[in-house]
Amino acid sequence: MTGTNQRTRDIEQIIQCIPHSFDGQRVLITGVAGFLGSWLAESILSLNGQVIGIDNLASGTMEAVQHLKSIGNDRFSFLNHDISKSIDFVTPVDYVMHLASRASPFEFVPYPIQIMKSNTLGTMNALGIAKRHGAHFLFTSTSETYGEASVFPTPETYRGNVNSLGIRGCYDEAKRAGEALCMAYLRQHEIDVRIARIFNTYGPRMRADGLYGRVIPRFMDQAVKGEPITIFGDGTQTRSFCYVTDQIEGLLRLCTIPAARGEVVNIGNPVEITIRELADMIIQLTQSTSSYVFEPMPPDDPTRRVPDITKAKSLLDWNPRVSLEDGLCRFRDALHTEA
Ligand code: UDP
Repeated sequence: MTGTNQRTRDIEQIIQCIPHSFDGQRVLITGVAGFLGSWLAESILSLNGQVIGIDNLASGTMEAVQHLKSIGNDRFSFLNHDISKSIDFVTPVDYVMHLASRASPFEFVPYPIQIMKSNTLGTMNALGIAKRHGAHFLFTSTSETYGEASVFPTPETYRGNVNSLGIRGCYDEAKRAGEALCMAYLRQHEIDVRIARIFNTYGPRMRADGLYGRVIPRFMDQAVKGEPITIFGDGTQTRSFCYVTDQIEGLLRLCTIPAARGEVVNIGNPVEITIRELADMIIQLTQSTSSYVFEPMPPDDPTRRVPDITKAKSLLDWNPRVSLEDGLCRFRDALHTEA
């Protein structure tokens, strides 16, 4: 199976699960050159929608949007712009999906101001576009709004335990402010906002390099190259990993289901695993000879993270379909052929 075939099958899986056509609908996606932005754009184009993608290529790449031109033909256009700067956006749109933000914890150290701007000023600018055109609005918030949580699985009603002064504060607090901005625009201007709290998500086209690498692409890259797997701390911290097709299905349902107006919903896979177990699994699936190297735990790295998805199940009729093992195999196969 080639990586391209894998992607086609993944997109087909998403399309089959969405009870909604984007035929004739115009969708503005900020952060379109990022991991989730490019998957969302490809899915909407495949559902016959039009996509206008905005990105300043700070952490996204043109590589991630190249294929959208050929899939969407004249239904895809790209604007190189930093959404945290003002924009006179006159083209009418039906949806605004605001994803633009650096998201890797390694980036929190050198780029905290950019991160705060894209989630506060950027959210205000994106909300302004939705207000001008009467569009539905999606804000991609994060499980990080819960910080070092004390309730597991964590429901949307948990209010969070965030260190505003720590290195993660720039991301966590900016996303929390972004959520508050959405609710302010809902209350004052009746904007149709929907907020997704996204839990760890992985899949093809997620970067492994430099500051951008999250744990799964990093471990996969290290395992394939036979390099030591870098485990931070003792590896007993947990995460719950969602394959990208499930995440995109959840986001599209959240955007389009009328009852989700003004709602905040956790979107993630509730199967919890330690980072050490994840490393073992990746070594086994790649038949790697890699060893482990233990490195210091970054400050404020959450000890446990697992979503309560009761609300997503009932409100969106959504449930993750792809197991971690299946998702890691799909990711591995795509890596082999798309590298
Ligand atoms: N992690 C690790 N080694 C790495 C990268 C990450 O052990 O090379 C750990 C990290 O400390 C965290 C988990 O993997 O506990 C998930 O990290 P990621 O950067 O993917 O995102 P986070 O969930 O922390 O936002």
